[in-house]
Amino acid sequence: MTEFDAVVVGAGPNGLAAGIELQRNGLSVLILEANDTVGGSARTEELTLPGFRHDVGSAVYPLGIGSPYFSSLPLRDHGLEWVHPPVPLAHPLDGDRAVLLNRSLDTTAQALGDDEDRYRRLVSPFVERWPEFAKHVLDTPLRPPRSPLLMALFGLRAMTPTTRLARRFSTEGARALLAGNAAHAGVPLERALPSAVGVTLMAAGHAVGWPVPRGGAGELTRALASLFASLGGTLETGVRIGSLDELPRNRAVLLALTYRQVAEVAGQRLPVRYTSALRGWKYGPGAFKVDWALDGPIPWAAGGVDQAATVHVGGTIEEIAEAERAPWQGVVAERPFVLLAQPSLFDTTRAPPGQHTAWAYCHVPNGWDGDATDRIEAQIERFAPGFSQRILARSTHGPRELQAWNANLMGGDVNGGALTLDQALGPARWTRHPWSTPVQDLYVCSASAPPGGGVHGMSGYHAAREALRRTFGRT
Ligand SMILES: Cc1cc2nc3c(=O)[nH]c(=O)nc-3n(C[C@H](O)[C@H](O)[C@H](O)COP(=O)(O)OP(=O)(O)OC[C@H]3O[C@@H](n4cnc5c(N)ncnc54)[C@H](O)[C@@H]3O)c2cc1C
Repeated sequence: MTEFDAVVVGAGPNGLAAGIELQRNGLSVLILEANDTVGGSARTEELTLPGFRHDVGSAVYPLGIGSPYFSSLPLRDHGLEWVHPPVPLAHPLDGDRAVLLNRSLDTTAQALGDDEDRYRRLVSPFVERWPEFAKHVLDTPLRPPRSPLLMALFGLRAMTPTTRLARRFSTEGARALLAGNAAHAGVPLERALPSAVGVTLMAAGHAVGWPVPRGGAGELTRALASLFASLGGTLETGVRIGSLDELPRNRAVLLALTYRQVAEVAGQRLPVRYTSALRGWKYGPGAFKVDWALDGPIPWAAGGVDQAATVHVGGTIEEIAEAERAPWQGVVAERPFVLLAQPSLFDTTRAPPGQHTAWAYCHVPNGWDGDATDRIEAQIERFAPGFSQRILARSTHGPRELQAWNANLMGGDVNGGALTLDQALGPARWTRHPWSTPVQDLYVCSASAPPGGGVHGMSGYHAAREALRRTFGRT
């Protein structure tokens, strides 16, 4: 007797999305999670002092609210509430100035002065047709798009190195804004693909915003787990799977693990050639992360930065490009590019009254075991003099601590693999079905698989659709 139709390993955003999609199509699904709590890299904990709730992994969700799959689910009924800051994103510059990415494309473009029209031309096609665009960009690159012109336009931007794409701008602000968004990719800005991330995130900012879940990142995955349970799914935590042989009987297995982990867990069931492709999967830079409990808001020098939940701290495009090159050369920049979130300004559940939390990370070499705290804090102090005096307590996580917290964070890589051209389609290149493996009924549904890193659940959704079609014969 089959005990479950499908078993999913890993209860992060993708494992939960896969479980929901299979369960709501009438299958019986078991999700197994190594940690004691669900959520993967979307969890919230009291890391510093009582009453201060910190997002240990991810924090801000443009692709979460913009996800075609998550937005089709009744997550509000399961307690998810999005909190939108007045401004999605701020990027301070020296001289007490800041460039702001507002919800309004017009307001943002006008504030860029000479670059107003150039900014509009860069992002407006994707803002105006966001639902269609999001569907394509969060799919596999090899599926023929239903909007070929829109995606050809995107492809041209995506393949242009960010440092070159930025040359269309004449202002420091517009160039820095693009560079900061592209730097989320974790690859040098002189290469192809970071521009894809940059343009997508900027378009999302205008189309759907960059919200945070009320109560913390863990509230999104808690809502997903609650929906899964309401559909009759079974979820067990505290179960670390070392081999497929440990799983109960099933007809399909979906691994929300990164590719090298898949090689370990699937062992000799996979063909030797495929296993060696999995073992050769390359991870990107690690993250060095700091969470602070603060006795007041961060004292930004520039106006408007306190209106955004996300702040890009790194100055000009030249500085950001240098900072993002450094981890690929085995070092950490003296002035790293720091991604910062200040959710408690807009969500009072995060800290005791009048006090605040802040979250930040920078890229470091994969597996690095140094301490980047001073460099991160110096960058914030540069744009917010007096920041250090507000610190009540801090908690730091380097690559090793991150991987100990969530085994998918290999060497501290937050994206499940390096975003390079040769890896964009997964280890078995040139397939329209990158969520399948050569083993019938074994699928990969983590952020390693297309469309890649970020909390959007689309890798899980696509893998589940693949399993429904291939294993269960559903169309
Ligand atoms: C510091 C940090 C900041 C980030 N910031 C953002 C952000 O602001 N916005 C955004 O969109 N994205 C962000 N990300 C990326 C995003 O969190 C990930 O891309 C996303 O969580 C991937 O989802 P997943 O389900 O594929 O994997 P994960 O969320 O990593 O979940 C994998 C799960 O599998 C479990 N697992 C691993 N091995 C086993 C095993 N052998 N047996 C059983 N269970 C196992 C793990 O415990 C984990 O729960 C960030 C990530 C990090 C770490």
